[in-house]
Amino acid sequence: MEKAEPEAMRRPEPARLLAWYDRHRRRLPWRALPGERQDPYKVFLSEIMLQQTTVAAAAPYFASFLARWPNIEALAVAPLGEVLSAWAGLGYYARARNLHAGAKAVAERYSGRFPMSVSELITLPGIGPYTAAAIASIAFEQRAVPVDGNWERVVSRLFAHSEPLPKARARLRTLAETLLPDARYGDFAQAMMDLGATICTPRRPACALCPWNDACAARADGEPERYPLRLAKMARPTRRGVAFLAVRADGAVLARSRPMEGLLGGMTEVPSTPWEGALPTDPVQHAPVKAAWTPLNAPVTHVFSHFALELTVWRAEVPAGTVAPAGHRWVPVRGIDDEAFPSVMRKVLARL
Ligand code: SF4
Repeated sequence: MEKAEPEAMRRPEPARLLAWYDRHRRRLPWRALPGERQDPYKVFLSEIMLQQTTVAAAAPYFASFLARWPNIEALAVAPLGEVLSAWAGLGYYARARNLHAGAKAVAERYSGRFPMSVSELITLPGIGPYTAAAIASIAFEQRAVPVDGNWERVVSRLFAHSEPLPKARARLRTLAETLLPDARYGDFAQAMMDLGATICTPRRPACALCPWNDACAARADGEPERYPLRLAKMARPTRRGVAFLAVRADGAVLARSRPMEGLLGGMTEVPSTPWEGALPTDPVQHAPVKAAWTPLNAPVTHVFSHFALELTVWRAEVPAGTVAPAGHRWVPVRGIDDEAFPSVMRKVLARL
């Protein structure tokens, strides 16, 4: 006889999770205290920062953004360059552009007041299904499921779901919807996030402390860490390039802005060869100025989501009067921190 799907066997009680949340909720800088109204701008800002970033890394950026742009109107009128510069170091820079575009749209189309429904939120630039559901549920108490990695892990374990990610995503969302309570949608969404972050962790989940441990199929099977199942990952290719660190006699560094579209769009970089599978045979042909270029020792390495980058740094000292070629500019030493250099370029600049 065929074994019954474990997901048909149990329904974890939402009330138990909410009771656990009332006792153990995390204090987070963007989270309202019990009984307070949640500011949708804080949810928007934090949820975009938290995509691909830990709470610890996002927290100081959240504080500095909020101090500088305390509401959606202030962020909407900020120059994009300043927003990118304030984002520098947090990575995945498309998020900063999305944040800015979303703020402008809320200010222009909705007079600075976020729409409340997922269907309207999702029409805003930079707001995908996850962020729309997070804002709708947490700030406006709408019935919505912001399914992120934490939710997927918890749900796949509760139901011991046997289909691997990413294919399982649609089914996990349907299963997540069956867990929703009849009220307190915002608390429930945040409770799921907290459970995934503190108890149902990727490795060594603390099942003994979990409010749903008697309804969890993966725990009953004895191997909760197996879930969520995943298809084997494709190997990440390596791209290589040469970065040219031209240093003027007064210490200024030659830089340029990347095109707005594509990887690190609009960010500042030192000039380099294209990033490809192999290094160019004669890198100096790509150098931005004529100089005595010298390769430095170990390459700079950086891992992006779809490839790893190995940048060999070539350095040259150039005279004080050297003119920046078209599309380039000299950045004085004291101006480096104000430029939107992404992490990979800050690693290159560390070779100064
Ligand atoms: S019992 Fe364990 S595996 Fe199951 S949801 Fe709770 S922490 Fe996760």
